[in-house]
Amino acid sequence: MTISEQRPTERTRPERLPLAVLEQGIPFTERHIGPRATDLAAMLAVIGVDSLDELADRAVPEGIRDEAMSDALPQAASETVALQELRGLAGRNRLGVQMIGLGYHGTVTPPVIRRNVLESPAWYTAYTPYQPEISQGRLEALLNFQTMVSDLTGLPVANASMLDEATSAAEAMTLLRRAGKSRSARFVVDADTLPQTLAVLRTRAEPLGIEILEADLSGGVLPEGDLFGLLLSYPGASGRITDQEELIAEAHRRGAMVAVAADLLSLVLLRSPGLIGADAVVGSAQRFGFPMSFGGPHAGFLAVRKGLERQLPGRLVGVSIDADGAPAYRLALQTREQHIRREKATSNICTAQVLPAVVSAMYAVYHGPNGLRRIAERAHRMAVVLAEGLRRGGHEIVHDDFFDTVCVRIAGRAEQVVTIARDLGVNLRGIDADHVGIACSETTTIKDLGTVWRAFGVSQAEIDRLDGSAPDALPERLLRTEDLLTHPVFHRHHSETALLRYLRALSDKDVALDRSMIPLGSCTMKLNATAEMEPITWPEFGELHPFAPVEDAAGLLSIVADLERWLAEITGYDAVSMQPNAGSQGEFAGLLAIRAYHHDRGESGREVCLIPASAHGTNAASAVMAGMRVVVVRCDDAGNVDLPHLRELVEEHREDLAAIMITYPSTHGVYEDTVREVCGLVHDAGGQVYVDGANLNALIGLAKPGRFGADVSHLNLHKTFCIPHGGGGPGVGPVGVREHLARFLPGHPLQPSAGPIGGVGPVSAAPWGSAAILPISWAYVRMMGAEGLRRATLTAVAAANYVARRLAEHYPVLYTGSGGLVAHECILDLRGITKSTGVTVDDVAKRLADYGLHAPTMSFPVPGTLMVEPTESEDLAELDRFCEAMISIRAEIDRVGAGEWPAEDNPLRNAPHTAECLTQEWSHPYSREQAVYPGGRAHQKIWPPVRRIDGARGDRNLVCSCPPLTAYQD
Ligand SMILES: *Cc1c(COP(=O)(O)O)cnc(C)c1O
Repeated sequence: MTISEQRPTERTRPERLPLAVLEQGIPFTERHIGPRATDLAAMLAVIGVDSLDELADRAVPEGIRDEAMSDALPQAASETVALQELRGLAGRNRLGVQMIGLGYHGTVTPPVIRRNVLESPAWYTAYTPYQPEISQGRLEALLNFQTMVSDLTGLPVANASMLDEATSAAEAMTLLRRAGKSRSARFVVDADTLPQTLAVLRTRAEPLGIEILEADLSGGVLPEGDLFGLLLSYPGASGRITDQEELIAEAHRRGAMVAVAADLLSLVLLRSPGLIGADAVVGSAQRFGFPMSFGGPHAGFLAVRKGLERQLPGRLVGVSIDADGAPAYRLALQTREQHIRREKATSNICTAQVLPAVVSAMYAVYHGPNGLRRIAERAHRMAVVLAEGLRRGGHEIVHDDFFDTVCVRIAGRAEQVVTIARDLGVNLRGIDADHVGIACSETTTIKDLGTVWRAFGVSQAEIDRLDGSAPDALPERLLRTEDLLTHPVFHRHHSETALLRYLRALSDKDVALDRSMIPLGSCTMKLNATAEMEPITWPEFGELHPFAPVEDAAGLLSIVADLERWLAEITGYDAVSMQPNAGSQGEFAGLLAIRAYHHDRGESGREVCLIPASAHGTNAASAVMAGMRVVVVRCDDAGNVDLPHLRELVEEHREDLAAIMITYPSTHGVYEDTVREVCGLVHDAGGQVYVDGANLNALIGLAKPGRFGADVSHLNLHKTFCIPHGGGGPGVGPVGVREHLARFLPGHPLQPSAGPIGGVGPVSAAPWGSAAILPISWAYVRMMGAEGLRRATLTAVAAANYVARRLAEHYPVLYTGSGGLVAHECILDLRGITKSTGVTVDDVAKRLADYGLHAPTMSFPVPGTLMVEPTESEDLAELDRFCEAMISIRAEIDRVGAGEWPAEDNPLRNAPHTAECLTQEWSHPYSREQAVYPGGRAHQKIWPPVRRIDGARGDRNLVCSCPPLTAYQD
């Protein structure tokens, strides 16, 4: 009930609540769940049920119902209490000066970027920019990211982010294998590579039959024998910088291609790898303004030379033009992606790291080339002066050429020095018994140098004298001579006022959850509550180094442990790993566990993965990455897994069946009542059952995959558990397994407590993946409690069924379960409409922008349809606004169908309409008013910034970095 509803209408006293209840404050469920009690009653009446419980009974198959929740789940807490508890947990983390390096460095997030990007719902609640006309702001920000990476790496095409540095390196490895001509299966990796990168490469190489050869390349000589690719590090993990031109040339002569893992900040001062022949460059943009965050999230990057752009995994922003000829941005070359190519996709990456990429791009925009140079020089000079002081104190500095990381030889005493430094509040890297690594950064201070010297027993030196006498440690021939970041965007926004307005201007072009509902099927665009978001920018979480001693992160690890326990209870699994940093990575980890299980039992011949035709594209792509062969199971006319076909396939593959991968409820938005049977069939044939948990929002509190027959699932915390989509990432894709698979979960070489020993190795660079955003999901569960979570599920199901009922007479609803009900989403079938009128799903999606609404999911899982998932967070007024817009659009379609408006000139085909197009001569058969105020003027108008964008043209003329200003003239 809302507060206003509680006001007495007659002069009677309201019922008095006990003080203990009043003390709890307003329950968070009232904030998270949109419909008020009276509205929910109205919705249920439309659906034809009396209560949420009755809805549960009718929608969810009896055979899988399992509502028991142990007290492993917390009682609901208010926002105030949850935040107090999080404060307490944050206080248990120990902050120190982090000089461990290894790809994670201190950085300053400029406050203007922290508050107006990272903490701004206009940026963090946005969806992946698949509707480019209402996503121009974040597309431009991502284009800035691509331009920045391309400029610094010296390669023409960079994608719009990868999940982290280690997985970018793995993607580069498979890219080189795909694109190259070599028949070799060997990939040579420089021994001076970040250890977590090397470990992830091994995990990813094994199922693909790639042999990783770790080689000491410090002598500049490639090992004997064949190779298809080579990974170099620049600088190396030890800090050393070498000239790699000759090695690259030698690899090329031997028919191999070369990837370089590079530090972005060092490239501000150093010659770019692209200039000396690298085919691909990978790395992390973390130190461009994104906190270390105990390992993530951060934007990884991947840039390639000309000719490889069509092999590039991940999303790529390109430039095209709109219907009026104005420049406009869109995602390019989508045909490479798993949505389209499935098991033939270039990679399984879907959710990437858009929000961190935007932060890092804006960091470069704000600082510009001169600011970046100064930051890079600070890190470098700190390291130089640090090294000089140590040298004068009698210590041996191993490498003469370095950027920010100093390697010190101190025979037998490395551990002791690291311990002393730690007592003084500084974390260093103990490399082995004789070597210590010390990394400097944007946040290193002169005082920190003094502390390190003390740890080495060197007395405080006179800084100015050292600084004056120590020359740079960057070799002359390796200095960058090219101009840096020449595009005007990196020169215009250096005052805070200018950047603030630029950020606002960009986000004003976009429709995020702060402006309208985003009814994207499969994506669960629910509330990302402010109380959930607040902790992620607290320094107690942001400034933890992932490889610092675990006791430094006691509070955050307690959050991880709570969440693991809670998710296990919710899903019915026995063990959960938080390491995968997207759903796709959870799929990969889960399938690796299945593979390892079969191998462990001596059944390594089991390699077939059955996947229904309706599955999400990542499923097939992940199966291939896990070394499996995909066999497609048909769906029947009702959209369910075709059981006779499944029986046939199971029989055929009795000997080599590894797994089936199904989604539950299905991607058709239906609770299939045969799921137990499906699981039984596969188990009987010796296979394992993977349930894609992306649709868990329809299950929590009602059923548990771990109890109805599945062995393993990933969840998407960025869907069901309130981590915002961030415009396309970050995400967290934890994987849950039953007992027999627990020892095959991912682990980590640098933090053994992050997983089982001897498991399948790491799937992410960081031990606990994107740990710093886990407080969001923690807060959600903490504030909802078991009962609140169940209510959220049922409200989401009610909202989907309400929309389905309201729209059914205007658009056929494609699939329903046996009770005539859908689960948490519904598919509107436009194929008949398209056939008879020519109006397409695209037209409807773009027209919704004129109504100020974001389109539903288009053509997934069924081409020519729209999939609507309203979620529990939308109130009835917003659900109705969406329904009325769709009904109004249907009336517009009918006018096209009736011939009243020509098929080529009508408000649907011409959508979306901009303010500019109203100022042109108007010759359309509908009015300007109809064009831009189709839903009336009651709701605040959102003006799309561009007209419909020409996709094909953008793919033909691929432009993936900021266009020169001349492109905008005339
Ligand atoms: C979103 C989704 C995925 C992929 O998750 P990412 O986090 O984007 O990698 C997989 N399966 C289904 C059904 C999904 O909806």
